[in-house]
Amino acid sequence: MDGQLVDSYGRHIKSMRVSITDRCNFRCRYCMPAEGLPWLPRDEILTYEELARIVRIAALMGVDQIRLTGGEPLVRRDVPEFIRMLTAIPDLRSISLTTNGTRLPQLAGPLAAAGLTRINVSLDSLVPHKFFQITRRNALEAVLAGLAALEAYPSIHPIKINAVAMKNFTEDEVLDFAALARRKPYIVRWIEFMPLDADQIWRKEDILSGGEIRAIIEAEYGPLVPIAEAGASETARRYRFADGIGEVGFINPVSEPFCATCDRIRLTAEGGLRTCLFSQTETDLRTLLRGGADDHAIEAAIRGAVLQKELKHYINDKRFVRSTRSMSMIGG
Ligand code: SF4
Repeated sequence: MDGQLVDSYGRHIKSMRVSITDRCNFRCRYCMPAEGLPWLPRDEILTYEELARIVRIAALMGVDQIRLTGGEPLVRRDVPEFIRMLTAIPDLRSISLTTNGTRLPQLAGPLAAAGLTRINVSLDSLVPHKFFQITRRNALEAVLAGLAALEAYPSIHPIKINAVAMKNFTEDEVLDFAALARRKPYIVRWIEFMPLDADQIWRKEDILSGGEIRAIIEAEYGPLVPIAEAGASETARRYRFADGIGEVGFINPVSEPFCATCDRIRLTAEGGLRTCLFSQTETDLRTLLRGGADDHAIEAAIRGAVLQKELKHYINDKRFVRSTRSMSMIGG
């Protein structure tokens, strides 16, 4: 393989987000319609062997961080077995997972045993009726039980909570989440609401920015202390409380875009390679895989796509065009 995977702006691609299913047991308003989406036929979804092959080829080009996403990845069977397949790929530095947490009471142990090292659990509210309002599911207790189950497996560390922040929804719980980050071994991060919802309800005025949330916390706890050792391509701005108890983070793709240091590409469940969350095009790797292409042909397709990687999103710009897919079809 001909060296590192680098885009036309000199950004080294180190991270691949791999969607292993488009299905989900939630119906989050900022992602999916209440009735759900027409699921992809199973034979259109890549097999674990096909996914692992693409990851192996990408790893040879310097991609060393793999994040498994969905839909909800844990609704697909045998995820621990797939993680075992990935841990056998040399050169991978981290294997992580983004989940809504409902399947963790059963799966935290098998995931840890399989070699999962990092995890993000999506949790937007700690209030049952508000949780239902967002996810259209009465599952807050299940998610909290999932988080508690993770605490028994220190090999999965850190435990991060991702809360999508929305105006007139999130504000009154910011201090509860901050208290949670101080009480529990969880790092709470707020993510600004992005225009990736299937219902296309996103409006700029619905954004509650990271800066606004930080102000709420600092009014209560005093100035937060930046955590310097965050990596260059880290999407979160990380902070500790002044007394050292607890860590929070802010992922501000709209108010403080981080595209200049973006090192990510994404693989959809059916084998579409996306070089940006807001890509208007995808490179079809499934046809190559199932058409008998060798590793070099797949490598060339990935390199070709990365050379076309978008400079940035244009959310703050009149040139902005919504993504061709909703979040559940991309995997975040
Ligand atoms: S919007 Fe696109 S370019 Fe910007 S950080 Fe996200 S994936 Fe990277």
